[in-house]
Amino acid sequence: MFSPITGGCLCGHVRYRIECAPLDAGYCHCRRCQKSSGAPVLAWLTVAAHGFAYTGGAPSVYCSSRSYQREFCPHCGTQLIFCRSLSPRTIDVTLASLDDTSVIAPQYHIWMQSRVSWLRIDDTLPRFEGEGPKCSA
Ligand SMILES: [Zn+2]
Ligand SMILES: [Zn+2]
Repeated sequence: MFSPITGGCLCGHVRYRIECAPLDAGYCHCRRCQKSSGAPVLAWLTVAAHGFAYTGGAPSVYCSSRSYQREFCPHCGTQLIFCRSLSPRTIDVTLASLDDTSVIAPQYHIWMQSRVSWLRIDDTLPRFEGEGPKCSA
């Protein structure tokens, strides 16, 4: 029996709930994730769009590329989701914004071609120079 996963931003204004089991999770080293978070790498989980809902607050939306958008708290700036702008089938959620970050662990690295040079990665997860098993731009 799957129990819902909850999460939200740093200040608590925006809250969300995930109602079905995540499809997968991975690290993204792309420049857009780095720039949008100010962090060297972002960990994302992917869930079917119908399984994700905001339960409190209203996020701001930034179109980070032609067909994709990022949503974040307008008050504290925490990035919460990444998805296709038009009728997304899946939603990527920042794994570290979950209330319980242990519910799923990243299973791969994507966009290794733009990883920061000083980050040491010693896991044995599959590494992809580009988008890897799913598209994330
Ligand atoms: Zn906030
Ligand atoms: Zn990325």
